[in-house]
Amino acid sequence: MSHQDIRGVIVGSANARVGFPAAIEILRAGGSAIDAAVAAVRAVEDDLDDQGVGTGGIPNILGQVELDASIMDGRTLAAGAVGAVKRYPHPIEIARKVMEVTPHVMLVGEGAELFARYHGFEPADLLTPEAEQAWRAVVGGEATTRSSVYEDSYQLYMQAVKDWVKLLHKEIFGTTNVIVRDLNGDIACAVSTSGWGFKWPGRLGDSPIIGAGNYADNRYGAAACTGRGEMAIRCASAHSVVMYLRHGLSLEEALRQAMLDLRQLDDPFAERHNVMNIVAMDRHGQVLAASTSSEATYVVQTVEMETYEERPRLHVPLHEV
Ligand code: ASP
Repeated sequence: MSHQDIRGVIVGSANARVGFPAAIEILRAGGSAIDAAVAAVRAVEDDLDDQGVGTGGIPNILGQVELDASIMDGRTLAAGAVGAVKRYPHPIEIARKVMEVTPHVMLVGEGAELFARYHGFEPADLLTPEAEQAWRAVVGGEATTRSSVYEDSYQLYMQAVKDWVKLLHKEIFGTTNVIVRDLNGDIACAVSTSGWGFKWPGRLGDSPIIGAGNYADNRYGAAACTGRGEMAIRCASAHSVVMYLRHGLSLEEALRQAMLDLRQLDDPFAERHNVMNIVAMDRHGQVLAASTSSEATYVVQTVEMETYEERPRLHVPLHEV
């Protein structure tokens, strides 16, 4: 079968569209997939209306915004990630720095913040009045950094989680996924999130975990996830898509199989309608995305296109219908 080889292409979760102009400009100028992916994600991190990524993200149970991000270079399988980072608005750039200048892949919490400070990243206040209000409406109380709150916050946490399950996807969840193939044919994948709204402090989802929420390998393709990160961790979903591609499945089959794998999970928190989503690209630059929701979309743009195109995702319900 002959494949059309697409170079200079970007695919992402629907919210990534705000980052496409910056990424496309870099690609058109012959820039790298890594540069384009970081530029796109950075723009989403700066989008104050997006309550699932960067500044403006929904905080944890204590009212603190904690960010996670990861990046993977499909040429070399180099990867960088940060988790539970407070006060730094561009975790994707810190993740890139981890990949480029350390012998590590992942830094979390205070250590990641210390690393960011050493490398000259500027701290900022990430909690917007809107996100604080959303937090207050569900959790109640005052935003605080006092650790004594931990003592009786377990009850609060369980209540918030119960309430969260009832809330709409767009209000509480959110992550951005960006996969880029540059004009050289190199692939990079970048993910950034404020995680599960009202999460327990220190909780990491799939987004900073290479293999769970992010994976890229020039030889086969790339995948990234949004949704209930615990599921993507348990199934290593992003890596699964790439493995299925490696084993010869088509892009659609690989995505479908990775989604079907989720059905094995016994998960009392997966009651929501829109629980898992994956965007993917094969090694030829063909793109597709899947979701447990029939309404979810993704966005794609090539360097030849004037603007992005929004497309429906392949629908793979979590339960057999
Ligand atoms: N996957 C993210 C997480 O579990 C959240 C999301 O995509 O909505 O942290």
